[in-house]
Amino acid sequence: MPELPEVETVRRGLQPALEGATIRDVEQRRPDLRFPFPERFAERLRGRRVESLGRRAKYLTAHLDDGLTLISHLGMSGSWRVECGEASHTPGEFVYPRSKDGAHDHVVLHVASRDGQASRVVFNDPRRFGFMLFAEAGAFDSHPMICGLGVEPTGNRLDGDLLGALFAGRRAPLKAALLDQRLVAGLGNIYVCEALWRAGLSPRRQAATLAGGRGRRERLAEAIRDVIADAIAAGGSSLRDYVHADGSLGYFQHAFSVYGREGEACRRAGCGGTIARIVQAGRSTFYCPRCQR
Ligand code: ZN
Repeated sequence: MPELPEVETVRRGLQPALEGATIRDVEQRRPDLRFPFPERFAERLRGRRVESLGRRAKYLTAHLDDGLTLISHLGMSGSWRVECGEASHTPGEFVYPRSKDGAHDHVVLHVASRDGQASRVVFNDPRRFGFMLFAEAGAFDSHPMICGLGVEPTGNRLDGDLLGALFAGRRAPLKAALLDQRLVAGLGNIYVCEALWRAGLSPRRQAATLAGGRGRRERLAEAIRDVIADAIAAGGSSLRDYVHADGSLGYFQHAFSVYGREGEACRRAGCGGTIARIVQAGRSTFYCPRCQR
């Protein structure tokens, strides 16, 4: 499933084609994805200008000139592809390759950029867990998908004191608390594992114990911000060197410190531990039992 850094990379990749662009035409090729498309979906988008392209947690948000917001989610296998003439690119493709099979192209936006450049912005989703919804003008913050979301893990608002306050009294393991979207929005399994390793904190530690250690919670807040920022930067670079000489893509997964590395040596200098995998709430957790306490 695409995680927040991929979604942010997708947003940045789509920005040049979409921000300020006018949606000339819309092809909606099925009645539904994970949910039915909104009523009059194509009709309400046609002729609108995209004022700005944003992101909240793992939702992409296109704010339109009539106040409507198009909220979209990539689900498990969704991707956006920009086609301009013969050229095509799929931003955000740096952990898993994405489908290019035209049979799974479900929405095509025909857009014209500010300077008149025409392109097609295509949503492809083989498994159809993605979706698109509208938030009416003035109702974005109260939209059911948006209103309950916790703090963004990318900005400066996420600091040690806020983490301490959010996790106070919580008996759940730290891993589970970090995955709770009502507390911190948009963190997924991979980057929670990576952030906990960077901070030297055990995923099994009770979340409430962060309240008792200022150094610990500052370290964790910094690790979360850094791991996301590094992944976004890596996504940007894999976008630039999109295809290697041998035809393979430059995936970020090779840079993971713990994720997917069960049985391998811990990369922390001087640790000498071995990465373990445990299952917490049905999800794999990778961590180093020696240096993560
Ligand atoms: Zn270690």
